[in-house]
Amino acid sequence: MKAINPATNEVIKEYKEYSPEEIREIIGRADEDFRKWRTTSFQHRSALMHKAGGILRKNIEKYARLSTVEMGKTIKESRAEVEKCAWVCDYYADNAKKFLADEIIETDASRSFVAFEPLGMVLAVMPWNFPFWQVFRFAAPALMAGNAGVLKHASNVPGCALAIEEVFREADFPPNIFRTLLISARLVEVIIRDKRVRAVTLTGSEPAGMSVASIAGDELKKTVLELGGSDPFVVLEDADLRACVATSATARMINTGQSCIAAKRFIVVEPMVRQFEEQQTAIMQSMQVGDPLNEETKVGPLARMDLVDDLDRQVQESIRQGARLLCGGKRADRPGAFYLPTVLTDVKKGMPVYEQETFGPVSAIIPVKDTEEAITVANDSDFGLGGSVWTRDPKKGEEVARKIESGAVFVNGMTKSDPRLPFGGIKRSGYGRELSHYGIKEFVNIKTVWIA
Ligand code: NAP
Repeated sequence: MKAINPATNEVIKEYKEYSPEEIREIIGRADEDFRKWRTTSFQHRSALMHKAGGILRKNIEKYARLSTVEMGKTIKESRAEVEKCAWVCDYYADNAKKFLADEIIETDASRSFVAFEPLGMVLAVMPWNFPFWQVFRFAAPALMAGNAGVLKHASNVPGCALAIEEVFREADFPPNIFRTLLISARLVEVIIRDKRVRAVTLTGSEPAGMSVASIAGDELKKTVLELGGSDPFVVLEDADLRACVATSATARMINTGQSCIAAKRFIVVEPMVRQFEEQQTAIMQSMQVGDPLNEETKVGPLARMDLVDDLDRQVQESIRQGARLLCGGKRADRPGAFYLPTVLTDVKKGMPVYEQETFGPVSAIIPVKDTEEAITVANDSDFGLGGSVWTRDPKKGEEVARKIESGAVFVNGMTKSDPRLPFGGIKRSGYGRELSHYGIKEFVNIKTVWIA
């Protein structure tokens, strides 16, 4: 397993993959630790989880740099990500006890209630795009609920995967309650089929989700799937264009466009289209592309060279089908996995940038005639993760938000994740929720107790 710096194409370090025997042994130890861990108090778990948050904050530069050199996000974004992980640790340390308190229900019993008990060991299959955040938003609630976690991280971020294991160990969690397995996707099946593993959560692409869910289904194990998205960014005729265009570029370019909840389809009502095109293009062209370790850089490389090829294919095919290129549309003239910020307009149904998820710095503008058509186009997608609506009338914004088929809609703001709000999708964006009190209840046994 090789970690390659996508800004330079240099190999940073090679790692030896774990053998099936090593995996079995680690799972055995994690299972032993789980049996004790599940009996510990919320107070104890909370102290350790706060400690984990403190370790993240203390080592922010170390972890941010690791993330930037392994997957290319800008150093400022990497720091913000580590800080957000500390936040989710504190959030569940402070709230898990309340979220999982027994729920008394009046019935014909003298006493009946619902208890929320840990399920056991949960396998997390995670992507590289937010190499710390994706893992912590699973691990903080799962461990606070009394579960154990084993992580199969994306193959291009092995250093981050090991660093996360180190955070929990340094925070004095039982040594095997959270373990990283350095393995290829091929070995995931062996882990899912292990009796000691009780559930699986996967964040990643649709094919990975389909494969993992079908194996887990065969084993009758619960899954949570956080898959792709092609979020609509709907601009109505009364939108505050200045505010909305600036946010549109940020919402598209976060993490060099490699975010599941990045705005990907800009659905703009006719009278606003030309101004929107001009202003968004000007912002995209002004963004500095370069070394992600440089504090001034706004756009780093994509995470791997093959992702540049995939993205370019989607752009070129859309142009061939009639999309109009306003800027970018090609690789940057430098070594590494760089692609120029790109704006395509006159995008129509059938084009790759309309139908598929674009995981990179590519904006697709889709002109529509009115609000009604905007809603139809917003929902004309296999995905249903997030979305946003822009209008000066908050009431109208809310009405449109209610008509958009997705796991979240933000009115006059960009879609973002927040530990306090549930996160997840519908349709081919997956199922189940992370974060908030909903997230911590995904991997618990919701147990009825009835006493005569
Ligand atoms: P990916 O190729 O699906 O990889 C994600 C993880 O799944 C990696 O650990 C990968 O391991 C593993 N994997 C791939 N194929 C597998 C299989 N057949 N069986 C078992 N495991 C498998 O996705 P990615 O390219 O890393 O991430 C980008 C995708 O993730 C995008 O579609 C994005 O929208 C989605 N995403 C969704 C969310 C969300 O919350 N909804 C958040 C972030 C990203 P290897 O690296 O070893 O292949």
